[in-house]
Amino acid sequence: MSVIKGIKGVKDLLPEETPRWRLIEEAARRWAARYGFHEIRIPIFEVTTLFARSIGASTDIVEKEMYTFQDRDGTSLTLRPEGTAGTVRAYIEHNRAAIPVPQKYFYFGPMFRHERPQAGRLRQFHQFGVESLGMADPQADVEVIALLWRILSDLELPGLTLEINNLGYTADRDTYRPHLVTYLKQHESGLCANCQRRIEANPLRVLDCKVPECRAITEPAPRLADSLSEAARSYFVRVLAGLDRIKIPYSLNHRLVRGLDYYNLTTFEVTATNLGAQNAVGAGGRYDALVETLGGPSTPAVGFAIGIERTSMLLPESTIRKTPEDVTVYVAGFGGQGAAAGFTALEELRLIGLQAVSDFRSATLKAHLRQADRLRCRFTLIIGDDEVAKGSGVLRDMETKVQYDVSLSTLGRQIYALLSGS
Ligand code: ATP
Ligand code: MG
Repeated sequence: MSVIKGIKGVKDLLPEETPRWRLIEEAARRWAARYGFHEIRIPIFEVTTLFARSIGASTDIVEKEMYTFQDRDGTSLTLRPEGTAGTVRAYIEHNRAAIPVPQKYFYFGPMFRHERPQAGRLRQFHQFGVESLGMADPQADVEVIALLWRILSDLELPGLTLEINNLGYTADRDTYRPHLVTYLKQHESGLCANCQRRIEANPLRVLDCKVPECRAITEPAPRLADSLSEAARSYFVRVLAGLDRIKIPYSLNHRLVRGLDYYNLTTFEVTATNLGAQNAVGAGGRYDALVETLGGPSTPAVGFAIGIERTSMLLPESTIRKTPEDVTVYVAGFGGQGAAAGFTALEELRLIGLQAVSDFRSATLKAHLRQADRLRCRFTLIIGDDEVAKGSGVLRDMETKVQYDVSLSTLGRQIYALLSGS
């Protein structure tokens, strides 16, 4: 019979990799809590119009990357390509604006985009993201950027760089757009096909294009920075001053425009080395108009999302080793009574809080010890028929190879004593 395979760009996370993920998730949760963010769990699918209206009709995501399907009643539904739209929908639906304290959420979960799969670019990928809703203050931007920076720094990702840009207000971009379009039209033939199309649909995105020819053309293009209003400029100055004050290093990148339409003012991205073309680990920005766009009350907001697959790819061994080592006891029960006593001991070890395993296929001590090594167990408890007769067992330290006679009735206490070095 033919074997059924998983979907292209949709990965399994096997047990060897899940500890890395847990480490990332736990670091993110720990830092989020310190910054006063609370978890929100939103659905992985929503009505399509939610994403079309929020992310923007002429963005890559909405144009060609969404997994959209019809529900049985004909409603168009979409697997979420990002977490902000759903979070904002929930914020509005549950009238969270009425709560007189800032609403600061974080989420963790799978996102879906139909992209060309490659290293660090998948069709199902995972994000840890935060949204800070309600504060139109540069300190809220700085707080969110600091949280992003702390999480990734704590994980010791190599070569972290924070890039930041000012997208100004909608009116600023409206002032700027014709200048840019005029320039781009003069150089249209040199641009990639994608960017030629973007001139009309979404000209700012041309600045973000990774194609070298496009980058060369846009280098001397008119800059948004020169069209910014005084208010937008002074807001950004205060964001940068805040980052300086808490010593978060950044570099200005006037090309950083991001792929979603809802951003304004502060926009940022953190990159790391060794990721090749897909070098963005996390990104975000301010999106003051989104809540209103989705039918809610005017609510300023700022947030980011971290890509977990890319973070995991970059996680250095040193960070991984920082995890507390899990101690597992292998129980080698063999012989008629030894096997039965071994099974009882397994259960007792688990009940007192230890991890305990065995391979029930192994019939000899030699076979058991081999499995204990393969499973990287710290101890092996050996129980044959002779041991059962004496009410004892032999506890073998798999690192030092030292063996101890242990009484089965006080086994747990003896193992804990060995672990604490007494
Ligand atoms: P890129 O420019 O790399 O396509 P993006 O602007 O589409 O990124 P965002 O929507 O801001 O990315 O998502 C935030 C983070 O999520 C990215 O920095 C990246 O780490 C991760 N990410 C985005 N798309 C994918 C994907 N298809 N596969 C894996 N991770 C992704
Ligand atoms: Mg993308």
